[in-house]
Amino acid sequence: MLTALAILFVLLLVGSIFYGFSIVMRKPPTEEELRTEKCSLCGNRFPKEELVERPVGDYKVYYFCQQCVGGLYRDMQEKDVASGVDTKRLIAEAREKKN
Ligand SMILES: [Zn+2]
Repeated sequence: MLTALAILFVLLLVGSIFYGFSIVMRKPPTEEELRTEKCSLCGNRFPKEELVERPVGDYKVYYFCQQCVGGLYRDMQEKDVASGVDTKRLIAEAREKKN
């Protein structure tokens, strides 16, 4: 019984050493990773200045690339007939608010 506890303790000790070592050895983000961000929809990396960002809550920021925004816009235009939403008017209103 005592031997089993000793083996368990040693396994726990070795496990926590490896866990701590992996935290210490984690490499910092590269220059490329700091300068770019992944699109939240397609997952491809782009320079941050090419992405549209939308903060959600206090900590989460979503990034969208030009292609995905274009895809969303086309999808929304296709929905216009069914929902009766005038996206062109909504976009014009949003632009007026921004200016
Ligand atoms: Zn994308």
